[in-house]
Amino acid sequence: MPDLFPAVPTHSTMLDERLPALRARLLAQRQFRLDQLATLDAATEPHDEIDQALHDAARSVLADIETALGHIARGDYGRCQSCLTAEIPIEWLAVLPTAALCPDCLQARANAS
Ligand SMILES: [Zn+2]
Repeated sequence: MPDLFPAVPTHSTMLDERLPALRARLLAQRQFRLDQLATLDAATEPHDEIDQALHDAARSVLADIETALGHIARGDYGRCQSCLTAEIPIEWLAVLPTAALCPDCLQARANAS
């Protein structure tokens, strides 16, 4: 099919271009957290509160990473997980590949708490 229209960069084409790099970063972060958890788990007992806090934080980040990778696999990465319609700004994803909320929903959540 001839390309009748000039290529206008949309959210989805810009995301497609960046997706391999974002996915690679998420996979690297995932490995880092898995290593961190393995190190924490292998640490000599007893675990103190700091160990536990680090462990919980690493688990929480890991869950966010797994969620983001799941969205990439399903093809709905970059869409707000709250309103399910708005797109998350590419610049946000570039800084934080696990970002799951659009600016409006993030603001609403911040106002609610
Ligand atoms: Zn939203």
